[in-house]
Amino acid sequence: MPHGERALLEELRRAVSAVNTPILLFLDLDGTLAPLRKDPSKVRISKNVLRILRSLSKNPRVKIFIVSGRDEKFLRSRIPFPNVSLAAEHGAVPLAKNEKRIFSSALRALSALSEKYPGTFIERKSSAIAFHCRNAPPRLQFPIRKDVLCLLSGFSGKGILIIHGKKVVEFVFSKAGKGAFLKRTASTSGSSIIIAIGDDETDEGMFREANRLGGISVLVGKNGKSSAGYSIPSVRDAALFLKSLLLAIEKSERKRFYNIAH
Ligand SMILES: [Mg+2]
Repeated sequence: MPHGERALLEELRRAVSAVNTPILLFLDLDGTLAPLRKDPSKVRISKNVLRILRSLSKNPRVKIFIVSGRDEKFLRSRIPFPNVSLAAEHGAVPLAKNEKRIFSSALRALSALSEKYPGTFIERKSSAIAFHCRNAPPRLQFPIRKDVLCLLSGFSGKGILIIHGKKVVEFVFSKAGKGAFLKRTASTSGSSIIIAIGDDETDEGMFREANRLGGISVLVGKNGKSSAGYSIPSVRDAALFLKSLLLAIEKSERKRFYNIAH
């Protein structure tokens, strides 16, 4: 069970003020930086959150990674700051030849299934396929998921992940998982403070890696089974958390400056 906000802020201040270690910030977008919308193309990040992200990204101590299931074009349209890194499609990596074959047959099978259920649609990414069911009738949500899982079980195996999101099931090559991305990035970055924030099952891999590396993992929303160390209730609280991070960093800078000057 994740800890609440007060414990999170204490941990944050302690981590940030202790030393001048670089901070790696791994952020999901949908449901974390911006509220979910019925039409995914309408998801927007508020001016307030963008302002905080811009200030954080300008701080030389902070490196921001947006780790999302979305494609790069969408992410860049929402986060226009060049010094924010984008890990699109769960941190995708190019597929091997045999993976391309599996990918094509899964895509064909899922497309056929989507035609059977009105209100569902397929999102094809470079190394993942998302089966969206958010616009299907509520009474069909369970049977649809059951059919999708049954179909995908034929493809499951080494290196393939089936991820249950909110109103979406994703078929992902695991090298491209968010956890794998965090691990790869952290291993090339040297000693750093790792902070991962997300709201969904797709973020759990990222939480586990952050925990393993002694970082701070934060779930937006509720999930008693989450691996996240902390949870905060909403997107608005995620914005407040990022603002607190910015203030804590600035405070530690002022303190260091004061100590040097006196
Ligand atoms: Mg999300």
